[in-house]
Amino acid sequence: MIKISNLSKSFAGNVVLDNLNLEINEGDVVALIGASGAGKSTFLRSINYLEEADSGQLEIDNFKVDFEHISKQEILELRRKTGMVFQQFNLFERRTALENVMEGLIQVKKMPRAEAQKLAEENLRKVGLADRMDYYPKFLSGGQKQRVGIARAMAMKPTLLLLDEPTSALDPELVGEVQETILNAAKNKQTMVLVSHEMDFVYNVATKVLFLEKGKIIEEGRPEEVFHHPKNPRTREFLSRHV
Ligand code: ATP
Ligand code: MG
Repeated sequence: MIKISNLSKSFAGNVVLDNLNLEINEGDVVALIGASGAGKSTFLRSINYLEEADSGQLEIDNFKVDFEHISKQEILELRRKTGMVFQQFNLFERRTALENVMEGLIQVKKMPRAEAQKLAEENLRKVGLADRMDYYPKFLSGGQKQRVGIARAMAMKPTLLLLDEPTSALDPELVGEVQETILNAAKNKQTMVLVSHEMDFVYNVATKVLFLEKGKIIEEGRPEEVFHHPKNPRTREFLSRHV
């Protein structure tokens, strides 16, 4: 079980995350939706301390941290337990697809090279890139690059996978292949928190939807509940513009 408690963050006096609480069960796919500037990325990035929360606690199984007093050691441990997939892929341009996936296994997990290679190959096959392992990112399509990004995160076997608008930098015809990869991970019970503006996809993949407004969760429920019977008029209004 993953539990986030009382998470808050301000930028220069502006409250961006306002005392957020969230429980995530194993295999849950939590989708964060909401208008631009609502705090979705800040929330996601705070979970693995890419963004430094002002206060709040996080529990992942028996591992507990208090963001206000987090140590370097705890940050490393937190990053081992959480994987991030970025909108802009953030691949190492001077490394092949295979080397991109191997990097964390060798540097962070201290895995022997041969073992890292085997695991990286396995994960690239899973995302349909068996024939692109030796390509450099500049020779890959956006969809392929993002699938490398997903393989890289998944190879680390994170307890929690974080995805911030993983398909929004892609040409429309490449969105489907990446969504399918994420759906597959969900089927395999990978626990995730996903930020997305694609409501059809959210409806299909999420087990829980959170609607964020001005750093507060103002609606939360199963996709059918939130999409078909939103309780908050603000959610209703947002969905009428986005579905
Ligand atoms: P979008 O849908 O556009 O990606 P979002 O919901 O992800 O929006 P965030 O990026 O989390 O929104 O930003 C939330 C608020 O925090 C915004 O008002 C933004 O201007 C502010 N903010 C984010 N990062 C910083 C920063 N580094 N410094 C100052 N303000 C920031
Ligand atoms: Mg964002």
